[in-house]
Amino acid sequence: MLATVIHAARDIRVEEVPDPVLSTGRDAIVRVVAACVCGSDLWPYRGVTPTETPHRVGHEFVGVVESVGPEVSAVRPGDFVIAPFYVCDGTCLNCRNGVSTSCLHGGWWGSDAGEDGFADGGQGEYVRVPLADGTLAVVPGPVVEEEIPGLLTLSDVMGTGHHAAVSAGVQPGDAVAVVGDGAVGLCAIIAAKRLGATTIIAMSRHPQRQALAREFGATHVVEERGDEGVEAVRGLTRGIGADRVLECVGTKESMDQALRSARPGGMVGYVGVPNGGPEFPVRPMFNRNVGVNGGVAPVRGYIEELLPDVRSGAIRPGLVFDLALPLAEAAEAYAAMDERRATKVLLRP
Ligand SMILES: [Zn+2]
Repeated sequence: MLATVIHAARDIRVEEVPDPVLSTGRDAIVRVVAACVCGSDLWPYRGVTPTETPHRVGHEFVGVVESVGPEVSAVRPGDFVIAPFYVCDGTCLNCRNGVSTSCLHGGWWGSDAGEDGFADGGQGEYVRVPLADGTLAVVPGPVVEEEIPGLLTLSDVMGTGHHAAVSAGVQPGDAVAVVGDGAVGLCAIIAAKRLGATTIIAMSRHPQRQALAREFGATHVVEERGDEGVEAVRGLTRGIGADRVLECVGTKESMDQALRSARPGGMVGYVGVPNGGPEFPVRPMFNRNVGVNGGVAPVRGYIEELLPDVRSGAIRPGLVFDLALPLAEAAEAYAAMDERRATKVLLRP
């Protein structure tokens, strides 16, 4: 089969790899219908994270189950499924505590999931899913073509934006500021609105993303950063700052912006993958009673909650995809995102 392999910085190839084979009884083979490139895929692409040996990539995909091992009971051949961006069993203590990203038996796509063996990368024609019952979420009934981008966001970005809002404790009537206008930040706006926020401030300088932010429910856009950004947020929140701030970038600057944009007693929900060393300034947080909650989003646990709203069209996170390419053009997909010609690229095998 064909799959995407990163060989080095800016060297993405779609090449022939071994077809996946069922081996443990707990696994499934999924034919990938759609996959995508994540903002976090750009760290190895740019060489920020070194690539020492060529390896498979891609961790967001939806597809149709081709075959399952004899111990699998939750998914059947022919099911349309959503895979979260990681493998999990759904049964261990951490999974049952709602932190399936810390599954005691799980792992990551494109690498080994412990004793359950290799999990293919999502940017390919087929994927062996090591712990199929825990990992895959079935989408009931027939799935129509137009639904696919929205369903694909439940692999990562929509669930991650939701995690930011849940972690910050967004409640009806809240004023929420969102730091970051990538796919996750835009989905965080959807999530804040869905949980009842009535003032939603998108911090964005990008005209097209500002427009999508407003379509998703942002009531205000703040282009300023740093001190001016903090002042602008206060100006929209009765002078005190936002009740909740959703940090969706992961840099020192974005975390600083988020912490300072929260009101005294406010909460920051953070989901941006930390790069560039954000650190928490404990004394200013202490002085202002600003809390922080969040981390890598356990999106598997959010799929069932969010799926009905995606299918009904009540929320439309699939609009974050602004480019679709065949799998064979995966290298162009990375380049388009790296050069900010696209917010998020969908790949079709
Ligand atoms: Zn687990």
